[in-house]
Amino acid sequence: MKVAFLGLGDIGSLMAAHLARDPFELVVWNRTVAKAQTFARDHRARVAPTPAEAVSGADVVITCLPSSVEVEAILHGENGMLDAFRKGSVLVDCTSGDPPTSRSIAAELGGRGVDFIDAPVSGGTVAAKSGSLTVMWGGEALVFERVRPVIEAFGKKIVHAGQVGSGDALKAINNALLAVHILSTAEGLAVLVKAGVDPKVALEVINASSGRSNSSENLIPQRVLTRAFPRTFRLALLEKDIGIAAVLADDLGVRTPVISLAAERFHEAREKLGEEADHVEAVKMIEQENGIEIK
Ligand code: NDP
Repeated sequence: MKVAFLGLGDIGSLMAAHLARDPFELVVWNRTVAKAQTFARDHRARVAPTPAEAVSGADVVITCLPSSVEVEAILHGENGMLDAFRKGSVLVDCTSGDPPTSRSIAAELGGRGVDFIDAPVSGGTVAAKSGSLTVMWGGEALVFERVRPVIEAFGKKIVHAGQVGSGDALKAINNALLAVHILSTAEGLAVLVKAGVDPKVALEVINASSGRSNSSENLIPQRVLTRAFPRTFRLALLEKDIGIAAVLADDLGVRTPVISLAAERFHEAREKLGEEADHVEAVKMIEQENGIEIK
């Protein structure tokens, strides 16, 4: 099966690695060509010089870019994918995208005999490396069956969310909850540090109690208390996701003040910490505002 993978970023490169073996024949494209060349040196893959050349001849095309804006750009831009798709091929967009753009791409491709599913992933770089990502996809079941082996190469829990755009919607809300949990856990611990409670003791109790979350159980102990703050998922991307969630809520007329406030706070964090910061570094903003460290 001929597969094209476009977007070898923090998570994309780890996902593509699972496709660099039988029964797949892999072609990769990345904006910064050096990354694609390094990938092809270490894996069984061929580098394509343009998005058009990557997708021509592919049965399945995977995109994994920051947002739907960049997917649109490599679809319609110079040497873009649009005119190069083989009829009967499928574009699987693993970007955490936005539902209206995914629906419009699906409609445009549908008119050309190309199918589309949105298939954002969760589980982070650890699950991407072990090929055990959760994949939430939106689209038609018959289309999914044609790409199932590709998705199963990097996904373990694979869930049909609904029509095209539903995977994006579910991913945005999941990540809005992640953003809320990071902020609320850091705020709570800032209060406890000021109250003289050791954050390790606080987390021992919270993680045996109802206030726990992935942030309290994993992110804060492994990345904040240790002061390691590794870069696995850029803060800018989480800010983008919670923004998609806030717009989705607005479009649907759902009142979500907590999500909106967390979106504002992540916007502030992105301005303060920059484009390369990791998402958990948002905790640093709370630490600085309160003159404490959670360690
Ligand atoms: P990165 O920021 O690490 O990589 C982004 C990729 O997109 C790179 O290949 C980059 O190319 C490319 N790119 C950026 N801008 C453009 C552009 N204008 N045109 C073409 N290509 C472009 O992102 P991740 O790999 O971390 O994330 C990819 C997607 O997966 C995002 O939607 C993210 O929200 C989602 N995701 C990420 C997770 C993670 O843990 N990292 C977890 C779950 C989902 P270049 O190398 O040239 O910069």
